[in-house]
Amino acid sequence: MSAVILDGKALGLRIEAELAERVSALKESGVEPHLAVVLAGDDPASHVYVRNKQRACERTGIKSTRVDLPNNVTQEDLMRVVANLNSDNSVHGILVQSPTPYGTDELAITEAIDPSKDVDGFHPTNLGRLVMGQVDGMLPCTPAGVMKIIEDASIDLQGKKAVVIGRSRIVGMPLALLLAQKGVDATVTIAHSRTQDIAGICRTADLVVAAIGRAEAIQAEWIKPGATVIDVGINRVADDSRESGSRLTGDIEPEAANIAGHITPVPGGVGPMTISMLMSNTVRAAELRLN
Ligand code: NAP
Repeated sequence: MSAVILDGKALGLRIEAELAERVSALKESGVEPHLAVVLAGDDPASHVYVRNKQRACERTGIKSTRVDLPNNVTQEDLMRVVANLNSDNSVHGILVQSPTPYGTDELAITEAIDPSKDVDGFHPTNLGRLVMGQVDGMLPCTPAGVMKIIEDASIDLQGKKAVVIGRSRIVGMPLALLLAQKGVDATVTIAHSRTQDIAGICRTADLVVAAIGRAEAIQAEWIKPGATVIDVGINRVADDSRESGSRLTGDIEPEAANIAGHITPVPGGVGPMTISMLMSNTVRAAELRLN
């Protein structure tokens, strides 16, 4: 393995330590940063994600409240819960864990959240600000986490070729905008399931980000020697050698670490940074309210 490992877990803990100091300062000013997490249904992965977010709140001193709702919750009930949290002045951040149960309209729920409490950064107002180049607000957590990893490693992307594979509204598309913003200045290609010759595009890229949700679909031999490789994917695959019978892997073949200059591991790369950025947005939401 020749690539430098970009340790998102360690960076996330460093960021959380800084956030803890800001939380203390807020508390001294009489404000207790408070994240409300709405968890509807019994999706096991969602329960794990929410637990991890609550643990991060404990590490940083942020108050967290969990609103549990049944799998058969109605759209009206969910909207009412969001409206109540919007009008609750003690709440600074609202997160409705995705996916919401079958039959509910997740986009409508996202749009119902007060943009100033939208710590996921998915509200059209916040995504719109990002499109307009205003990057000082609530940025989507996973793309913001990827940018922090790149910044922390002092990787200069000015004028460099970047490919973001995946164009989702929560990861790929906002990340492409962040990479192309003034000051970062990468030249960005957005690839997706209809893109022809992803291998060829990757071979010329100085930065490859994969966010497709297909285990190890991006082959190591596509990576340009020395390129920076960021693996957003989290895929559970069968592994008989493990007691659990499965393991987590990314969207990129692990052998890419023999070719890349820098690479994020899975797990321990982008995942922990996503949670740290959620904490960061929550603290920022509380600070903005104070000012
Ligand atoms: P998504 O909404 O399903 O979007 C997947 C994107 O990948 C789509 O744009 C799709 O193209 C594209 N795609 C699918 N298969 C492809 C292929 N074979 N070649 C090229 N493009 C392909 O997924 P998402 O929510 O963005 O998440 C992507 C991955 O990141 C998942 O593994 C998810 O678990 C992970 N994730 C991780 C974190 C974290 O914290 N680390 C956070 C969020 C998501 P089309 O648009 O053409 O369909």
